[in-house]
Amino acid sequence: MSKPSVAILGLGIMGSGMAGRLLAAKFPLSVYNRNHAKCLPFAAAGAFAATSPREAASRARVILSMVADDAASENVWFGENGAFAGAVPGSILIESSTLSVGWIRKLEAAATERGCQFLDAPVTGTKPHAASGELLFLVGGSADALDRAQPLFRVLGRNVLHLGPVGSGALMKLINNFVCGVQAASFAEALCLIDAGALDRTTAVSILTAGAPGSGILNRMAERIAANDFNPVFALRWMAKDLAYAVADAAGKRVSLQTASAALAVFDRAIAQGYGDEDFSAVAKSPARVANRD
Ligand code: NAP
Repeated sequence: MSKPSVAILGLGIMGSGMAGRLLAAKFPLSVYNRNHAKCLPFAAAGAFAATSPREAASRARVILSMVADDAASENVWFGENGAFAGAVPGSILIESSTLSVGWIRKLEAAATERGCQFLDAPVTGTKPHAASGELLFLVGGSADALDRAQPLFRVLGRNVLHLGPVGSGALMKLINNFVCGVQAASFAEALCLIDAGALDRTTAVSILTAGAPGSGILNRMAERIAANDFNPVFALRWMAKDLAYAVADAAGKRVSLQTASAALAVFDRAIAQGYGDEDFSAVAKSPARVANRD
């Protein structure tokens, strides 16, 4: 399987970059997207544009899904025209979306029933990393399935970390993103306090980003805010989704993620104010001011 036939389900910000990489590396590729128009540029570049996940899956031996959330994953895998209906037994099924661990376990059970191998392989990295093949894959599943998927991962990623059985990749990704989300929410609140206290914003932000709190997330947010550019690279609503999945999964393990719950409330407020489709850094546009009591 040096270049197995591949199906990519989902051509959003991340899936489109991954599909572009596979086409450039000359993998036989089928693509499916709910909004079919997003398939057309890939068809023009040599991919097969499927009209259902089932059709895409039936043409491939490795099927990779990169969609929004658990509900989107359910839509593309299950159902009459879902990918499970078309998957050829013996194929490798990969779920790379950031999803709940409980949902990943359901996918694994369905894959086994179909006679397929399953990997959860969510990624760190964002739009430019997907387009340039520099993602980091966090993988759960058997070593054998991972071996068989390596030709794909080598084209899409800079590294692959095998974290354990199915579900390990999903859990690690939720932990990664809840820590990011907490930092993003705290930075948004810090900016509000900087403004309310009439501190010079540029100076205050440079103290934070260059000092002990300075992190990849803070620096990335500070750049987007300074440029007033909130076009989505990672949509705000997906950060909220990841916080919610992390809180729920932790609760199932009798762990209370209080900082994640607080950050989720900040992101939910930003979504209610209409910022859900903007970049997650737009959380800084959601005012944290408390209304006057009188
Ligand atoms: P996106 O640009 O919003 O794309 C979402 C994709 O999911 C689109 O293909 C969309 O189809 C599809 N979709 C949404 N709801 C659906 C439904 N109900 N049924 C079928 N398909 C549906 O998101 P993205 O940034 O590529 O993210 C994809 C996944 O990767 C998410 O789980 C996200 O958390 C994760 N992730 C994102 C980043 C990032 O930086 N962007 C980084 C790491 C991981 P339509 O085009 O038809 O709407």
